[in-house]
Amino acid sequence: MKILLLGQNGQVGWELQRSLTPLGELVALDRTGDAARGLCGDLQDLDGLRGTVLTLRPDVIVNAAAHTAVDKAQSEADLARRLNAEAPAALAEAANATGAWLVHYSTDYVFDGSGDRPWVEDAPTGPLNVYGQTKLDGERAIAAAHPRHLILRTSWVYAARGGNFAKTMLRLAADRERLTVIDDQFGAPTGAELIADVTAHAIRQVLQRPQDAGTYHLAAAGETTWNGYARHVIDAARRIKPETALAVQEVAAVPTSAFPTPARRPHNSRLDTTRLQQTFGLRLPAWQQGVDRMLAEIL
Ligand code: NDP
Repeated sequence: MKILLLGQNGQVGWELQRSLTPLGELVALDRTGDAARGLCGDLQDLDGLRGTVLTLRPDVIVNAAAHTAVDKAQSEADLARRLNAEAPAALAEAANATGAWLVHYSTDYVFDGSGDRPWVEDAPTGPLNVYGQTKLDGERAIAAAHPRHLILRTSWVYAARGGNFAKTMLRLAADRERLTVIDDQFGAPTGAELIADVTAHAIRQVLQRPQDAGTYHLAAAGETTWNGYARHVIDAARRIKPETALAVQEVAAVPTSAFPTPARRPHNSRLDTTRLQQTFGLRLPAWQQGVDRMLAEIL
């Protein structure tokens, strides 16, 4: 089996390089592509992407690249649309022409964040910002162009590699006695490792059971707020490495309105993952498990 991975150096892409390797021949590209082989990995270059799929003829395309800068997307909507909607559409058309499977990631930001119940896959969408709208447009384009797809909607992604919320909180907690962190957005921090591992399992299954194609919610179990997440990180850091010197005494709860941002964010980012767990026979662990593991690695 041949797998084409786009976005190999992103949080999820990096972990996919590991989890997809045992499945077959993996051709992993970042935006610079592989000029020697005539392969394009740049999501801005739609013809290049189509040509890459036609040249390589992979069995599976996994697209982990995207415009993920939520606030920046508000002021560069054309670029966000190109990367999050038009490039997935081009990949889906090329996959349809060659018979490849297309695995793509989307977000809880396709929902409007109302209510307090976890969103099921078929719930009405209503993005609050450009990023969410372009990701939704990408989902729709894929579904319209190519039945053999997996769209995995996830939330609050973190990875040990690169910057993340936990590292920012630990850095601030080292110097400040009081942190203020919002407590009115609810969701589940989800590790890139978990997303990559589940992706590999799901690919194996859909190759045998094409009827399992479709959209699934993929997030760690349980829920918290950014404030609860920050508290957990600080408590866990003190537990995992007691010599960690943290000045912080209080993590104060504030509303989202305390930190105005260009993009509105949904209050309710809870995702109901029942469909994924039942279809693929997988169990999604509590969010704390992956966060503690990541902390043990970085501390
Ligand atoms: P990252 O921001 O870590 O990675 C995105 C990758 O896309 C980067 O490697 C980036 O490359 C690449 N990229 C950007 N522009 C281009 C381009 N023109 N051509 C090719 N590659 C490009 O994202 P995540 O790993 O966190 O996200 C993976 C998926 O999960 C995305 O579809 C995202 O929308 C979705 N998601 C993410 C969430 C999150 O909290 N992060 C939440 C919900 C869903 P470079 O490093 O060169 O900039």
